[in-house]
Amino acid sequence: MDRSLTKDAVNFIKEDRLHKLINESREDKIYLEEIFNKSLNKEPLTIEETAQLIAINSPEMLQKLFDTAQQLKKDIYGNRIVLFAPLYIGNYCINNCKYCGFKSSLTSTVRHTLTQDELISQITSLENEGHKRLILVYGEHPKYTPEFIADNVRSCYSTKVGNGAIRRVNINAAPLDIAGFKTVKDSGIGTYQIFQETYHQETYSQVHPKNTVKGDYMWRLNAMDRAFDAGIDDMGIGVLFGLYDWRFDLLSLVAHAIHLRERCGVGPHTISFPRIQPANGLDIDLPYRVSDNDFKKLVAILRLAVPYTGLIMTARENEEIRNEVIKFGVSQIDAGTKLEIGGYTKQVGSEQELKREQFQIGDTRELDQVIQWLVNQDFIPSFCTSCYRLGRTGEHFMEYAIPGFIGRFCTPNAILTFAEYLEDYAGDMTKELGYNLIDREISKIAESDKREKVIERIKFIKSGKRDLFF
Ligand code: SAM
Ligand code: SF4
Repeated sequence: MDRSLTKDAVNFIKEDRLHKLINESREDKIYLEEIFNKSLNKEPLTIEETAQLIAINSPEMLQKLFDTAQQLKKDIYGNRIVLFAPLYIGNYCINNCKYCGFKSSLTSTVRHTLTQDELISQITSLENEGHKRLILVYGEHPKYTPEFIADNVRSCYSTKVGNGAIRRVNINAAPLDIAGFKTVKDSGIGTYQIFQETYHQETYSQVHPKNTVKGDYMWRLNAMDRAFDAGIDDMGIGVLFGLYDWRFDLLSLVAHAIHLRERCGVGPHTISFPRIQPANGLDIDLPYRVSDNDFKKLVAILRLAVPYTGLIMTARENEEIRNEVIKFGVSQIDAGTKLEIGGYTKQVGSEQELKREQFQIGDTRELDQVIQWLVNQDFIPSFCTSCYRLGRTGEHFMEYAIPGFIGRFCTPNAILTFAEYLEDYAGDMTKELGYNLIDREISKIAESDKREKVIERIKFIKSGKRDLFF
């Protein structure tokens, strides 16, 4: 591994400035109205504007923030929610992150890396549930080389059972050097995700011991720049909320997004905002835990600040919180999630065993149950991967902003991939509810030409054709 940073590496987190903005911003209704309008025009916000949103404290302005987030989500992403599943490949780890159930000092953790045969059974099982999009997750270890990761990705794409197929594989693994990122990119990945955990340097060094690889703050902060230089233009960033003041880490996420836009010409593809969960051996004080109300607020603020970035809410959150927060701008969720290495072939309904898993999840529902819940709220569950497969990645992703793009592509593709799910994997009840939703959605398609095409393709799907997209 070549441990050098990019030549232009810079710490773009200006801590003093961020703290000053947090301490000095006061709610200002006139300024807020300007910001809400700017957001509704789908313009990304500056750090100062984001700090003004953080300063909201009146119920009236808070409601306005939620309403604007909801409106913006509808305008940019429509009412579809993209579904995926995490697939943990191995939990060996050389790092000692204090919050994590995989940290190297924990001898009670049961460690395992999927063998090739086990990997295939996990993929098969996920396909049999109806999944089309995976994120592969790894501890950091010399075993998990870029070649190993690339092989895993290829196995995902080449394993097919019945009508099942994995059509997009994302990665959440340790930062690599440019050559490593290239190797992984060449295997056909979608997004490469790396969370900074916290952008606050002092806290970062408290939870990531200095003598570990992850203890190197700049190696991680510079990772997305290296990924981009290696040709990866779908970059996922995130914070583990609860390590430090959420307001600081939220402003930092926006600073990171601005940095990527300025340096790479494209912002992050996704932002994740996991909150710290109970884990095996978790024994740190967490004075900065984020309350549910602050969590709702921070997701809504993110929606306004980075309009074109997908927002991922994971199954760390329980059903109740997911139900509330999904409206404020979330575009992707995982479902039917199992964290145990090999967990997808275990009996349905098995309890989590924390010594085998990274942390405790809050939403333990199976995929079909999550789908019913989405449908009951008029969200279209989507397994769409068409943009990525048609090369609409990186800066092209911005095309979502072009008026009519959602109507012409996203909604029809969500409907088609959902119809495939209903035909191949849904229970009777989900199928009935699902086709009712599809009928309602089709009747809303404005262009009659497009409407007819969607109806025709649904007929094809019912007669056995698969993988149709616009
Ligand atoms: N090991 C790689 C790394 O650290 O970059 C890959 C990511 S790790 C397997 C996935 C993510 O899980 C981490 O980036 C961290 O944000 C999150 N995580 C770790 N411990 C957690 C906990 N107790 N609760 C919630 N999320 C946690
Ligand atoms: Fe290892 Fe990642 Fe867990 Fe840190 S967060 S201990 S690097 S798996």
